[in-house]
Amino acid sequence: MESIKVNRHRLRETFDQISAIGATKRGGVHRLALSDADWEARDLLKTWCDESGYTLRVDRMGSMFARRAGTDAGLAPVVIGSHLDSQPMAGRFDGPAGVLTALEVLRTLDDHDVATRHPIDLVNWTNEEGARFSPPLMASGVYAGIKELDFALGCTDVSGVSVSTELKRIGYAGAEPVGGPVAAYIELHIEQGTVLQDAGATIGAVSGVVGIRDTMVEIVGEDTHAGPLPMERRRDALVAAAEMILAARKIGLAHKPDARVTIGRLSVPSNSHSVVPGRVEMTLDIRHPEQAAIDLLQVELEANFRLIAGRSDVEVTFRPLWNYKAVAFDEALRSAIADASQTLGYKQLSLPSRAGHDAWNMARIAPSAMIFIPCRDGISHNEAEFASDEDIAAGADVLLAATRFADAKY
Ligand SMILES: [Zn+2]
Repeated sequence: MESIKVNRHRLRETFDQISAIGATKRGGVHRLALSDADWEARDLLKTWCDESGYTLRVDRMGSMFARRAGTDAGLAPVVIGSHLDSQPMAGRFDGPAGVLTALEVLRTLDDHDVATRHPIDLVNWTNEEGARFSPPLMASGVYAGIKELDFALGCTDVSGVSVSTELKRIGYAGAEPVGGPVAAYIELHIEQGTVLQDAGATIGAVSGVVGIRDTMVEIVGEDTHAGPLPMERRRDALVAAAEMILAARKIGLAHKPDARVTIGRLSVPSNSHSVVPGRVEMTLDIRHPEQAAIDLLQVELEANFRLIAGRSDVEVTFRPLWNYKAVAFDEALRSAIADASQTLGYKQLSLPSRAGHDAWNMARIAPSAMIFIPCRDGISHNEAEFASDEDIAAGADVLLAATRFADAKY
């Protein structure tokens, strides 16, 4: 299969046009899911797909699927894309990089009259970010059968408006059922970290998405007056929590480079300058590319916290919040991404994703993979987020090659 490169100029133009929708003064975008800006961006994508003759289908979650037909109508589609919604006052690359490179792949296949066996579907997933409507990765979660359709449609924003209501308002409450067979799924995304930049690499062949296990840690001692009781008699939950936070950091560091252990939220119900805190609740967040390592870290942390609680004369209990399992991406697709990068002359390396992506959901129902491109200084979910034209185009070249590989293999 000979290498084909995408049209850099056209890719840049489509990017500039999408970036203008919901643009912020400092070069970012504010394009929350199902807002007027999201509506406008969807309509522009629809216009482009109509112009190229790609058949657009919108499912009941509002996800958009634009199809370039294949030669074998009986085959399931190879799906490529990402999301056009953003975090508040955020960057213009997180999401659109995947959608617009997918569009460029379809257009380049047209330019070169390349026929594929499978239909190739460009997807724009509804509400990846979860900023306006929680939870994130919403529509792909329903597609993969992880979340219920009615639950997702009923989720509301802070003003009480539901996903369902907003989908109808902007004209994207589609009739298509959510879900269906997928031959392969490939998503290009900015790395949102600095591994590629530090290595001087252009392409990340993503090995998988880390697992994320969150637990609510409840520490109970006894509220007492800050004055009369001798200090050695205190059952201070906050002092125990402080020791646990330091222990968590130490355990996380002992499992570097892959482990991430975070205690990011603390609530002290008494919260008074004259009360010895008798109760603390805090979140414990563990991330690691390997599920077994996450489970071991959980055991080690809980054992450590119990020891601290014992010598602090407080009780500690653990309430599971969620446990998103680590996902490994498809070996053949990962190799194809690495091989294509080498053929095209782009330095590549393998790395895990430490953030959730729609590909995480799709990996549960289809051979899936992700292509990362560098993101300056790892800054993301921020107006200063930046990826260069050259890197986006290089990523699109690799996405094109990987799509053709998937078409041939699956
Ligand atoms: Zn994203």
